Amino acid sequence: MSACLLCDAALDPGRAGMVLFADERLFAVLHEDRAVAGHAMLVWKGHLENVSELTGEEAAHFMLSLWRMERAILEATGAVRAILMKLGIQVPHLHVHLYPVSRELDRLAVMNMIEGRVADGSSAVERAALAGHIRRLL
Ligand SMILES: [Zn+2]
Repeated sequence: MSACLLCDAALDPGRAGMVLFADERLFAVLHEDRAVAGHAMLVWKGHLENVSELTGEEAAHFMLSLWRMERAILEATGAVRAILMKLGIQVPHLHVHLYPVSRELDRLAVMNMIEGRVADGSSAVERAALAGHIRRLL
C-alpha cells in the first residue's frame, strides 16, 4: 500500500472499479459511486498531477484513450453529452472523470452527480452488463 489510492489501483485496476481497459500506462474503470450509469474514470498509472507533466506523446495517448472511452460510453448508454472533470483535490494523481448525460440535464443536475448526491440505482448485474457492452465497443 502506498500513500496514494490511485498508485495502489495502478497495480490492480480492479480495486478502483469495474475495468473497461488497461495498458502499461493507463487504465479506465466504471466508477463505484454510481452517480450515473456509465460514470467512468481514466487514470494515468504514474503518479503525476497534471496533463502538462506528461510528454507530448504520453498526452496524445491519454487523449486518444479518452476519445475511445467517450465514444464507447456514449454509445453504450445512449447519452449524447459527456461531462469531463479533473479535480485531483482528494487524490492528486492524474485522472479524468467522465459522466454520460442526456441533453436535458441542467447544470444543477450535473453538479448533483459530481457531488455524489444522486445514484443511478443500478444493480451489480446491470453494471457488469454495461461494462461488458462498453468493452465490446472500445
Ligand atoms: Zn498516485
